[in-house]
Amino acid sequence: MANPKRKWSKARTSRHRSLWKLSVPGLVDCPQCHTKKMAHKVCKACGYYAGREVVKVAQ
Ligand SMILES: [Zn+2]
Repeated sequence: MANPKRKWSKARTSRHRSLWKLSVPGLVDCPQCHTKKMAHKVCKACGYYAGREVVKVAQ
């Protein structure tokens, strides 16, 4: 069976890898304390997730 040598060109692969971290939605603003927090994770600053306190954080 004939197979393509590579799916993407080397240039496209390196461009993709260099931009990968920029495109990942890593940090969002916490709606509770308005600091930067990890997306889809409990906020480390206030312990809130999805509008309620799930983790007790020492003040
Ligand atoms: Zn927070």
